[in-house]
Amino acid sequence: MIKSCFCKGIVQGLLALFIGTAVLGQGLAEASMLYPGVGKKPATTWKKQDSTVKPEEKKDTDDRASWRKHESEASIIKVGLASGMASASISSVDGMHIYGTSDGRQHGDFRSNIVANLSVEGNSILVNGKNSGVSELLFVPVEKFSGGRIKYNKNEYRGQILVSIVGGKLLIVNKISVEDYIKGVLPSEMSPAWNMEALKAQAVAARTYTFYMKNQKAHLGDGYDLCDSTHCQVYDGLSNESKTTSDAVDATKGMVMTYQGKPIYAPYHASSGGSTENSEDVWGNNLPYLRSVKDDDSKSPYHNWSVRFKAAQVQKLLSAAGKNIGQLKSISMVPVGKSINGVLDSGRASGVKFVGSGQTVVLTGQQVRQIFGLKSTYFVVRTERMAKLPPDNNKKNTSHKNTGTIDAAPAAMTGTKLKVENTSVDIIFDGHGFGHGLGMSQYGAKAMADAGKKYEDILHHYYTDIEIYKMY
Ligand SMILES: [Zn+2]
Repeated sequence: MIKSCFCKGIVQGLLALFIGTAVLGQGLAEASMLYPGVGKKPATTWKKQDSTVKPEEKKDTDDRASWRKHESEASIIKVGLASGMASASISSVDGMHIYGTSDGRQHGDFRSNIVANLSVEGNSILVNGKNSGVSELLFVPVEKFSGGRIKYNKNEYRGQILVSIVGGKLLIVNKISVEDYIKGVLPSEMSPAWNMEALKAQAVAARTYTFYMKNQKAHLGDGYDLCDSTHCQVYDGLSNESKTTSDAVDATKGMVMTYQGKPIYAPYHASSGGSTENSEDVWGNNLPYLRSVKDDDSKSPYHNWSVRFKAAQVQKLLSAAGKNIGQLKSISMVPVGKSINGVLDSGRASGVKFVGSGQTVVLTGQQVRQIFGLKSTYFVVRTERMAKLPPDNNKKNTSHKNTGTIDAAPAAMTGTKLKVENTSVDIIFDGHGFGHGLGMSQYGAKAMADAGKKYEDILHHYYTDIEIYKMY
């Protein structure tokens, strides 16, 4: 895994918001690449493929001609697997050839499972101790039996592995077709057991995101298009692949969502809580295709949730976030920005005011979500006072265990000031959904697919005014 990303800009900055959402965090700015030749309608039906018949392209007998041909295709991406490595080991179950990218020469011909141990000497890569004289090598599987798979350290990958020297250390990159790459990514994003139409919608969203990120050039200075961590999309090679998700990728081959001819920034999240969100209410940036829409979230396991804190814990968490308010006196939901009563159009929290003995702070719903580790900003806050129970003389009364307290439970009140008398008062966030609320809700997509909707219907529902184009 690439342990750190050095990419600049809004894409990375926004990502912190999404960590812990169990779904992807993705960038924001507009894409820059225009795809000509658009307008081809996607297939509207998905035909189940026979698992015993694997569609294989005709193999080129000359591997070098093959990788050169593939290299020129726009659908090839570079995924960064590791950087700053002093050594690396590469092998292939099929056997592999090693080529120098600068001299075009073959630098090795390894049989099945024979390992090439790589190290660095000056500006040259050593292969099993032998100096190759070049600073970049391409490892190409022979592709005789398995469709081509190559192993770097413990993970197997489709495509090829490119090893180069950057700053005196090895950089390991997987050169792979977008289609094969998405097959490795998809099972981490959505359960392979889900409805095929939902999986296809997810495949198009992941592919769109891949091209968007490639166009953003977030990793330009790093020597690859996408990293293999949550910063871009989690990718561990082909070990994750699953029949259904791969079928969903094949069935939507080359299809991306575009707006005004460009691949859109296509965020998605686990569960909307019943309504997705406008982009400007999350990031302040208005993207015309990310509008709040109603969503059937009723079957989501995250549809209703509740998190409880003692007032003392609230003080501690705020303090840890640099907002030391002293002793908490009251809480209320308040408007931040355009909202009127502390709740946005979608139902999500706009802001929360914490009045303390030391100071008062007003936090956005996003900040509250982050500080308290909430599943979403779709919440209301309420308090519960704990009252002393009378001595439990009546043994038949089993409605309350004799813990010495009982919930006094005033209702949650949006826009109402909730007084906090002491540090043992409970502060409760009652919420809906899981994730940032932008774009496709995965549980909503599942509900739509289960109700008979096609993947195009699903995508058009969550991404406003987009078109679905087949790029290749
Ligand atoms: Zn990345």
